[in-house]
Amino acid sequence: MLQCTRVSTLPVGELAAELLAAGHQPVEQFRTYTGACLYVWCELGEHSDGKHADLISEEDVNGEYLWFLWDDNGGHRFEYLPACVADAPDGDDVCHFFRQHPGDHSWKVTDPVMDAMRSEVKRQMRGWQSDG
Ligand SMILES: [Zn+2]
Ligand SMILES: [Zn+2]
Repeated sequence: MLQCTRVSTLPVGELAAELLAAGHQPVEQFRTYTGACLYVWCELGEHSDGKHADLISEEDVNGEYLWFLWDDNGGHRFEYLPACVADAPDGDDVCHFFRQHPGDHSWKVTDPVMDAMRSEVKRQMRGWQSDG
């Protein structure tokens, strides 16, 4: 299953307020988002229901992670959600999406852009090895 292609802008002021309300020092994350990235990408597999979602912080807060959720009508919110952690059939991976996410588990989702970047890096590394 391909990754969902929805993109949204991140309301940085709301993010700072959210992190402060949760007792975080938002400085590091704030720097990350005010630096280059004001956009969020839906990480989920293609889905026709539910909200789009991007993981904002990998910092565990009481077993939950901060997600930015949005819909196609401009509605959005930040929410701390527990991880899905469904096991992949080969036992090598667990789903890093939130519990009861729409679409397939993360280990079934393919991001063609990331795949293209990985194969470009591999191609370049082969070039470096043959240079030496
Ligand atoms: Zn989506
Ligand atoms: Zn899952």
